[in-house]
Amino acid sequence: MIRAHIEIQGIVQGVGFRPFIHKLVKTYGLRGYIKNTSSGVEMELEGPEEEINGFIADVPEKAPKLALIEEIKTEFSGELRNFEDFRILKSRTEEFRNTLISPDICICDDCLRELRDKTDRRYRYPFINCTNCGPRFTIIKDIPYDRAKTSMSDFPMCPDCDREYHDIEDRRYHAQPDCCPECGPKVFFLDGEGNELPGEAIETAREYLKAGKIIAIKGLGGMHLACRCDENIAKTLRHRKQRDEKPFALMCRDAECAKKLCHVSEEEEKILTGFRRPIVLLRKKERGLEFLSENEYLGIMLPYTPLHYLLFGDDIDMLIMTSANLSDTPIMYKNHEAVQNLRGIADGFLLHNRDIQTRCDDSLCWVRNGKEYFARRSRGYVPFPIKVEGSESRILACGAEQKASFCLSKENYVFQSQHIGDLKNVETLENYESQIEHFKRLFDIKPVCAACDMHPDYMSSRYAAEKSEEWNIPLVKVQHHHAHMCSCMADNGLKGKVIGLIWDGTGYGTDGTVWGGECLAGDYAGFERICSIREIPLPGGDKAAKEIYRTAISLLRDSGCSFEEFENSEIIEKMLSAGFNCPKSSGMGRLFDGAAAILRIKTQTSYEGQGAVLLEAAAGEDEGLYPVEFYNSAPVRFDWRPMIRQMYKEKQEGAEISALCARFMNTLIKAGTEMCKIAREKTGINSVVLSGGSFQNMYIMERLPKALEREGFEVFCHRRVACNDEGISLGQLMAAQAVILNKKEI
Ligand code: ZN
Ligand code: ZN
Ligand code: FE
Repeated sequence: MIRAHIEIQGIVQGVGFRPFIHKLVKTYGLRGYIKNTSSGVEMELEGPEEEINGFIADVPEKAPKLALIEEIKTEFSGELRNFEDFRILKSRTEEFRNTLISPDICICDDCLRELRDKTDRRYRYPFINCTNCGPRFTIIKDIPYDRAKTSMSDFPMCPDCDREYHDIEDRRYHAQPDCCPECGPKVFFLDGEGNELPGEAIETAREYLKAGKIIAIKGLGGMHLACRCDENIAKTLRHRKQRDEKPFALMCRDAECAKKLCHVSEEEEKILTGFRRPIVLLRKKERGLEFLSENEYLGIMLPYTPLHYLLFGDDIDMLIMTSANLSDTPIMYKNHEAVQNLRGIADGFLLHNRDIQTRCDDSLCWVRNGKEYFARRSRGYVPFPIKVEGSESRILACGAEQKASFCLSKENYVFQSQHIGDLKNVETLENYESQIEHFKRLFDIKPVCAACDMHPDYMSSRYAAEKSEEWNIPLVKVQHHHAHMCSCMADNGLKGKVIGLIWDGTGYGTDGTVWGGECLAGDYAGFERICSIREIPLPGGDKAAKEIYRTAISLLRDSGCSFEEFENSEIIEKMLSAGFNCPKSSGMGRLFDGAAAILRIKTQTSYEGQGAVLLEAAAGEDEGLYPVEFYNSAPVRFDWRPMIRQMYKEKQEGAEISALCARFMNTLIKAGTEMCKIAREKTGINSVVLSGGSFQNMYIMERLPKALEREGFEVFCHRRVACNDEGISLGQLMAAQAVILNKKEI
């Protein structure tokens, strides 16, 4: 017999850790206690040494899904205390880790088994859940997290559920949303007019779907519009939703079904079937399915609620699922709002009476090296904190504008918000403001400092200015691309100086011009702009972001090529030669736009980044390269004119467009590598972080890091937050943290 004192550090509170330990201790027949501490849990165990070692080995192996174990410290002693049993000790000061709130977790295997078991009392019950699964974040009104402060407060537990809830041996022990057909929420089905239809709601929904109708379905964080995966129905849905070209996601019955349409690697399958259930962007097996997505990827997710599972069967194996929102407003999440606003769009409504408290869109990712590479980090991930060493102060970072998100920090943990959307929209801005208040309350954070973008017109910057005054706290304005750089540094736990290759569409520069094809060098405290790309005049300013043939004309004219073939070329030429309403931009996104239009892949776009997405999709295998030339200093400019000239010439000669797309991107990869070499020469720094929305281009992401590594650089990409503007808030936060630390030193 031996006694062990064990300290487990990490995120182990509020994730079902103590009941897990209780069960594990019992299987090993050990005695002692466990209690929460400020950094994790502490326990003492007595029993045979072999058993205790077995227990310790099992902890990281079998821990609950959400637990994040950072360290296990063990000390053995021969002095026994002769514990009589195993106890969970109540700690008086349940600290902030106890206020951790779990993301929404997809239905677990045990619950799925019961859902399909005719003898189970929850057979086919669409709200079945347990300690390991079910809704969390989206049903919470307030803290502390217990049933009374969630949407489940309307549903008092029946005696059977109550018994399970209080039994530590039961797999529903302390599962706040626990319920059953006796006591829990119910589904119902409304027709297109909002009248409830008699009969089994889910069966009616299935009949509607099979008949080719479009229905709204209430999910975890909002409503989806769903229909069968059929070209004509998809057309109808696009027409009704006025969503002309944006891709639709698919929900597939299972991974096997996804494999019929897309290549699914082992790693992708793991994320696809994992408990967070994001939409995974998978490469299509063949070009085709253009009615779903016009590029080479298809967003696929698997069912994540019991309700979803009940929709599928031998007769339905995949459904188009798109979030129910209209022209950039937030996702709908209330029953009456859906019925009102989706009239004429949805032919029916599969709803229920459990309220969604917080909107949370589906997450969206690629899988790289077995990990999510986010385009959108939202449902299933938020609001779980990201551990960021050095983020000890309480800071509110307000994010950017189009892909707004915010961050709040506390004791080296950063709480990043879910996907919020475009703040230019009034409803979205309201949701943004109320979510900031919600997060502050949930995680008990009163910021001592605020951070925002330098752009004076971002709604997030205005909000930050207002609040910093109201709360009487300092405001730190962080340059857009510096924030991208800091975000990728924090994402990788970097502290020293780095080179930041930051490519995106648009960001406000320190000189008031628009930046976006940048190579910076610096750290959290500051940066130097080493390289950029030759500025592109944008005829008509914002208009050029949609009418990208304008940018094509601008690039061609500047490169000395002919451009008369493009519409309105005369007027635009006049604007350019007079310099009238032609703001200059060094945005990499604009270079992609222009190239896509020159190659006639697309001349007018219907959503942000479409030109770049389609250019990537059109690329084939080709090793070719255009000239890479630089001029100027401070910053050194990449001269894209020789590239454009050569590309245009080849286009005129009738070369394959797929080859030209590849050569264009190969050239940018070479240019990026050269930029970093220039920065290294100047600063001696060898670490490179890659950030900015342009790095959602998988052609570039598969090649640029390797090219940099061949030149001896150490390369860091995003891992935990998005590389696009959604990730900016994390970088702002770290830049503001550096300002606070500097002040302290003075
Ligand atoms: Zn479960
Ligand atoms: Zn019940
Ligand atoms: Fe950006």
